[in-house]
Amino acid sequence: TFKALVVRKSDSGQTAAFEDFDAAELMDGDVTVRVTHSTVNYKDGLALSAKSPVVRRFPMIPGIDFAGVVEASSNPDFPVGRSVVLNGWGVGETHLGGYAEVARVKGDWLVALPEGLTAGEAMAIGTAGYTAMLSVMALESHGLKPADGPVVVTGAAGGVGSVAVTLLAGAGWHVIASTGRPAEADYLKGLGAAEIIERAELAGPGRPIGKERWAAGVDSVGSHTLANVLAMTKYRGAVAACGLAGGMDLPASVAPFILRGVALLGIDSVMCPKPIRQEAWRRLGAQLDKAKLGQMTQTIALSDVPQAAADILAGKVRGRLVVTVG
Ligand code: NAP
Repeated sequence: TFKALVVRKSDSGQTAAFEDFDAAELMDGDVTVRVTHSTVNYKDGLALSAKSPVVRRFPMIPGIDFAGVVEASSNPDFPVGRSVVLNGWGVGETHLGGYAEVARVKGDWLVALPEGLTAGEAMAIGTAGYTAMLSVMALESHGLKPADGPVVVTGAAGGVGSVAVTLLAGAGWHVIASTGRPAEADYLKGLGAAEIIERAELAGPGRPIGKERWAAGVDSVGSHTLANVLAMTKYRGAVAACGLAGGMDLPASVAPFILRGVALLGIDSVMCPKPIRQEAWRRLGAQLDKAKLGQMTQTIALSDVPQAAADILAGKVRGRLVVTVG
């Protein structure tokens, strides 16, 4: 057996508790990993709250990310002793996940721990930071560069937002950070934000099209916020839509698309193909400022995860959380 946070379903609903989990109940996979670190993303908060149908198999060990060392393997790419990182592929949703001392997965889902990162740093990045990098890569693929104008980042003090601000500022962009937590202005400036705007400015119903304020956007909020970001994007700009912290709806008009040629770029981290995934992790290892990563990260124990899950849904977590396991 090994220690795990286990979600079970009964007639009275979903419950989560720490258990000694029987290794014989691990799911199929050719690589078994001794987990050393995990993290708490917004989706992990949803999984543990039962407010959203994230968990689709019971019992489930949540945790959509983990880092650790291969303990047993029949996969030649990931031999025993190799340091690995996992994010996505339905782990923590349909396949037993990272809030446990041991995980067994398909080797195809793993990436080798990127050069330049410790396991703890990889989890400080986690799905949130990796999604921020996918968003930056999508804006670049669209042809956008810092000389085109400012970039707006919404939900800036959150996990995706903090890494996006850091990456974009590091690449030379003028970053406008939108936050509902004005007290975090100094924190965001420390990560490289040039300007701070109030979340409320973008959160309500807005005009179909407005003043051109930015050439690009990374949006982790959705709903009216994304609609307003689109409406204020410059001619031929683009917005990477990666989140729903403010709502899953999109009460927008087609005006920015057909009058300004604005592009809406969808970002999915879960099933993202391996070459893009590997490139994103490689770039995170090479380009993300480690000191800034440290400034945005708090470390907690596995036993603290249920509280942290509630806190992240309440919008109380700043930046990223690393979970030490074992
Ligand atoms: P997080 O740390 O909780 O960040 C979300 C941030 O959004 C909060 O810190 C807050 O920032 C802002 N926010 C929260 N509630 C809001 C509301 N009601 N209205 C407006 N803003 C609000 O979460 P995360 O892990 O970074 O994830 C961010 C979002 O991206 C989530 O929706 C998550 O599901 C999504 N996501 C998607 C993918 C993908 O594959 N597409 C991958 C990772 C994450 P401020 O306090 O600064 O305003």
